[in-house]
Amino acid sequence: MAVGVLALQGSFNEHIAALKRVGVKGVEIRKPEQLQSVNALIIPGGESTSMAKLAEYHNLFPALREFVKIGKPVWGTCAGLIFLADKATGQKIGGQELVGGLNCTVHRNFFGSQLQSFETEISIPEIAAKEGGPPSFRGVFIRAPGILEVGPEVQVLADVPAPPEKYAKSDFDVESLKDNAGSEKKVIVAVKQGNLLATAFHPELTQDTRWHSYFLKMVNEPNKEEASSSTSLSSE
Ligand code: GLN
Repeated sequence: MAVGVLALQGSFNEHIAALKRVGVKGVEIRKPEQLQSVNALIIPGGESTSMAKLAEYHNLFPALREFVKIGKPVWGTCAGLIFLADKATGQKIGGQELVGGLNCTVHRNFFGSQLQSFETEISIPEIAAKEGGPPSFRGVFIRAPGILEVGPEVQVLADVPAPPEKYAKSDFDVESLKDNAGSEKKVIVAVKQGNLLATAFHPELTQDTRWHSYFLKMVNEPNKEEASSSTSLSSE
């Protein structure tokens, strides 16, 4: 199995190393035609404006959109999540191209600037149910986006209180967030929609490979209703 990792900018080496730990070869993707040789794609974290400019320069957007549209599994982490979102708001967004496909609105730099980067334990019931291990995951948030709204077809995999005063210095008006559970305001940080997976944090910067294994299951065991048969690797 070959999983592509968009290698324009950001933490692509770390994803390739994490894939290696779960026994899969990560292939660096820099040109549209290279997408044809991989079964799935990871769009890493980094800086989404720079990544978008490089993607535009290499004429990658049409091929990336097609990859998403035909049902190949794609996982976006942090800036990669911004790439996949249908709508992005927040700091310095404007004119920046997105791949889209994920029916959600993300707010860029939701938790504040680089200085407000933080780590926190996140409850991950779906991942723990499928992958085993502890019920929580160490979330590494680096100038992370937050997911403000999702469409009905989007499965929420994790959320965090917003804002725990200790870390959030967002320019976003947290009071305008919908109440997801009781009176506590929460912001969504991980979602799945068919062939698309997105996390606001960086699993590739931890030693816990459960998100990578979970994504590989999306590649190996695609739900026939959700993804086209072209994602099946059973013949390889
Ligand atoms: N804040 C960055 C952006 O908007 C994303 C940060 C990250 O990927 N770690 O692109």
